[in-house]
Amino acid sequence: MSFRCELCNRSMPAHVKPIRLVMETRRKVYPERMLDKKVFDIGGVGFEIVKEVNACKKCVTRKSETQRDLDRS
Ligand SMILES: [Zn+2]
Repeated sequence: MSFRCELCNRSMPAHVKPIRLVMETRRKVYPERMLDKKVFDIGGVGFEIVKEVNACKKCVTRKSETQRDLDRS
């Protein structure tokens, strides 16, 4: 099955597999949970995915390069 890259909008050939690219994450706080007055899960902070797209290899490579540039500055 072919797919369309959601970043460059190009249709990919049938043999190309989409790469799931996380576009946006959100900080999520998990509250502690109690059971019989005892804490069985202390909770914590994590991230959950808000938006994920099907991307082609070219877009993923370009995006990770941009990310590296941002990290450097
Ligand atoms: Zn693309």
